[in-house]
Amino acid sequence: MKIYISADMEGVTGATHWDEMNRNHKAYEPFQEQMSREVAAACEGAREAGADEIRVKDAHGSGRNILARLLPRGVKLIRGWSGHPYSMVQELDDSFDALLMVGYHSRAGHGGNPLSHTMSSAKVESVHINDRETSEFFLHGNIAGKHGVPLAFLSGDADLCGEARETNSGMTTHATMKGVGDSTVSIHPEESIEAIRSGVKTALEGDLSKCVWSHPESFEVKIRFNKHQGAYRASHYTGADLLDAKTVRVSMTDYDDVMRFILFVV
Ligand SMILES: [Zn+2]
Repeated sequence: MKIYISADMEGVTGATHWDEMNRNHKAYEPFQEQMSREVAAACEGAREAGADEIRVKDAHGSGRNILARLLPRGVKLIRGWSGHPYSMVQELDDSFDALLMVGYHSRAGHGGNPLSHTMSSAKVESVHINDRETSEFFLHGNIAGKHGVPLAFLSGDADLCGEARETNSGMTTHATMKGVGDSTVSIHPEESIEAIRSGVKTALEGDLSKCVWSHPESFEVKIRFNKHQGAYRASHYTGADLLDAKTVRVSMTDYDDVMRFILFVV
């Protein structure tokens, strides 16, 4: 069994402030370690369920957060950003048996996490795909859908876990915390690590065919930027048009083109 794990940091247990997510800040280290240990727990749960090949994408900030020495031996870690449009699931393809997401967070403008954003907190107010307001979970989940890879497990804030289960009732989720305004209410970090390990094992031992998303034949993408300048610039992408000063729209049939659009305009 070949498993892909995509890991972010804003949904790691206790993550509350941007200082804690910033490698240049003193508050970062405990969260770097917690992220690494939550990913290690997902690897161990996958191994217990029979995974013999595990690829991990460090998908936060610089892409250089996870402490490789804390991962089980044999796991391959993708660090940094290649520039491939698949972004947080770089090199995901049909050969994987499941995708797992660890440390994911609520979408931009949503109250589920003090650090809510979609792809760029500096640039993006919202992203809609086929009129659904889109999180990084949904954006990258559709890549798995295109390749027929089951999205089996997600850990992150409680609101995102709710969104995940509404999107696909077959998937297993683990809520690390609940966002309340600019605060979080978290469970104990060790309890979270145990729950991720057992949740991943349960998810991968279940019926993975129920975790494959249906994949639409076409996609209308709307990105609303924080600033009108971003939308004006993006409106020059081939096929894109300006809906209003801050919003750009484009229609595509291949989901790779959706991710390519986001790569170049965000
Ligand atoms: Zn992040």
